[in-house]
Amino acid sequence: MNVPAAPALAIDPEALHFLPLGGTGEIGMNLSLYACRGKWLMVDLGISFAGDTLPGVDIMVPDISFIEQRKDDLLAIVLTHAHEDHLGAVAYLWPQLGCPVYATPFAAAILREKLREAGLIKKVPLNEIPLSAKFELGPFAVEYVSVTHSIPEANSLILRTPDGVVLHTGDWKLDPEPLIGELTDEKTLRKIGDEGVLAMVCDSTNAISEGESGSEGMVRKKLIELVGACAQGVAVTQFASNVARLQSVAVAAEASGRELVLVGRSLWRYAKAAQATGYLDPDMRLLSDKEGAELHPSQVLYLCTGSQGEPRAAMAKIAGQSHPRVHLSAGDCVIFTSKIIPGNEAPIGRLHSQLAAQGIEVIDEKKHKDIHVSGHPRREELKRMYSWVKPKIAVPVHGEARHLNAHAELAQALGTPECWVIRDGDLLRLGPEPAEVIGSVFSGSLAVDGTRLIAPDHPAFGARRRLMRNGAVFVSLVVDKEGWLIAPPAIRGHGIVDAEEEEVVVKGLVEAVQKALDSDKLENDDKKLREAGRLAVRRTLVALYDKRPVIEVQLVRV
Ligand SMILES: [Zn+2]
Ligand SMILES: [Zn+2]
Repeated sequence: MNVPAAPALAIDPEALHFLPLGGTGEIGMNLSLYACRGKWLMVDLGISFAGDTLPGVDIMVPDISFIEQRKDDLLAIVLTHAHEDHLGAVAYLWPQLGCPVYATPFAAAILREKLREAGLIKKVPLNEIPLSAKFELGPFAVEYVSVTHSIPEANSLILRTPDGVVLHTGDWKLDPEPLIGELTDEKTLRKIGDEGVLAMVCDSTNAISEGESGSEGMVRKKLIELVGACAQGVAVTQFASNVARLQSVAVAAEASGRELVLVGRSLWRYAKAAQATGYLDPDMRLLSDKEGAELHPSQVLYLCTGSQGEPRAAMAKIAGQSHPRVHLSAGDCVIFTSKIIPGNEAPIGRLHSQLAAQGIEVIDEKKHKDIHVSGHPRREELKRMYSWVKPKIAVPVHGEARHLNAHAELAQALGTPECWVIRDGDLLRLGPEPAEVIGSVFSGSLAVDGTRLIAPDHPAFGARRRLMRNGAVFVSLVVDKEGWLIAPPAIRGHGIVDAEEEEVVVKGLVEAVQKALDSDKLENDDKKLREAGRLAVRRTLVALYDKRPVIEVQLVRV
C-alpha cells in the first residue's frame, strides 16, 4: 500500500499529546495515541460493527493512515483488555504498523487465536505481561493497574512521562463481588492520585446513568433463582466474553441439575481461553450441542450466542427453528442476561416475538432488572474514581457526544480544573500546561470487505445497494458486421421474478429488445446498440412492474 507523505503538524517534541483515532465521539473501534518526545504509543486497536448501510460488511476498523505515516516512531500497541472494541482490529491492521504488542495473559490468549486465523501468529511480536506489570517504552513508563469490567483482566494504564502522568482508565467499573478476576485496584489509584495526575482519559459509557452499575454476584443469585423455576427446556444468552457470567450460568445449571451446553463458536473460544488462563476450572463440564441433543430438555441448559439478535448467531437460529440440533418448544424459557445495545432494538424485538409466537417465555432486563449488570461505571462510580485520582485535566472517551458531555459536566462539578471534550482526530496537548487542542488530523473508518479494507464511500457499496433494492438484468446481444442481430438476445434476470413468471417475462423482454434492434434508423455503433437494448428492457419492466433494475448489456460481434 502506498503511504502519502506525512503532513506537517505542530507537535511540540517537548510536550505530551493525546490523540484518539477511534472511540471518542462514537461507541466502539477504540484507538488512542499518546505522543511524547517525538515517539508514539498506541493504546488499544479495536473494531466496531457495521450497520446495515454497507451490504456484505460486518466489521469496521479505524483508518490508521495518520500513524502509519509515522510508524517508525510508533513504539508499541499496548492493549487494555480482550474486548473486540479494544483488540479486534490488531489482526487486520498490524501488518501496516509492524510494532510490538503488549497484553496480559487472557487478552494475549484471545489475540493469539485471532492472529493464528489471520496467519500472523509467527510475525507479531506479542509480549505477554503479568498483571500489574511495569515496563518502559521510550519516554513512557507504563504501569498496568487491574480494574473490574465485564471480562477478565481489564486494565487501566498509568503512563508516566517527562511531561506528566496520565491515567488511561480503559473500560472499568466498581464491583465488590466480580466473581472472577481482580477488584479495581483502589490502593494504586489512590496512590497515583497523591503522586499527582496531569490527565485522566476515562470511560464515559454510562456517564448519563445515575447510581452504580451493580454486581455480578447479584446476577448470579438471580440466575440461580430463575433457572431453578424453569420446569422444561431453558436457554440463556449472554455476551460470550463475560466469563464471570458464563460461570454464573454454569452454577445455575448445576444448582438445578442441568448439564451446561455451549452453543456458538465465540462462547467456546472465550471458555477455552478462560480455562487456559485459570479463570475457569479446566475440568469444568461443557457439552457440545450434539451431546446436549441426546438429553431430555429438563436435563440441559443451553448457553447461546446471539443476545443482540445477530442473524447468524445461535439464538437467532433457535428462534427461527433452523438450528440443526437445538430445538425449543412451548413452555420452555429463554433468559437474556444482557442489555440491548442501542441500535439493536429491532433485531432483538424480532427475536422475542419469534420466541413468544412459539409459546416460549422470554425473560430479559425489562422483566427482571437484576438479570444483567453493565461493565462500565455509572455516575457514583465515576465520582469515586475522580476522588481517588484527582486529575488536573479530564478527557472523557469511550462514548458518543452525549456521554462525553455528561461525563465532562460531572467532572467539572467534582472540581476537576480542566475538562476537554474532544472527538476522534483532535490532537490535544496535555502538558506542560496549558492544555490545548493544537489541531485535528484525519480519522475515519474502513470496512472489512473480504480480504481488503475499503472506505465506506467506496463505489462498490452504492452498486450493491442498487442491486439489493432493484435486482439486475443481464442481456447478451450477438450482432453481425452491419449491426443486425444474428440470434435472439439472451436475457437473465436476478431478483425480479420467480421461476414461473420468468419464461413469460423473458419472452416479452426478448421481443422488446429484438424490436428495438431491428430498426433501420439505429446507427451501427456498439454503444448505441447496447443503449437501445438497455432502454427496451427498462421500458418493458417499468411498464410491467414499475421497477428499474440494474441492466447490463453485453455486445458480441461475429
Ligand atoms: Zn470492554
Ligand atoms: Zn470498550
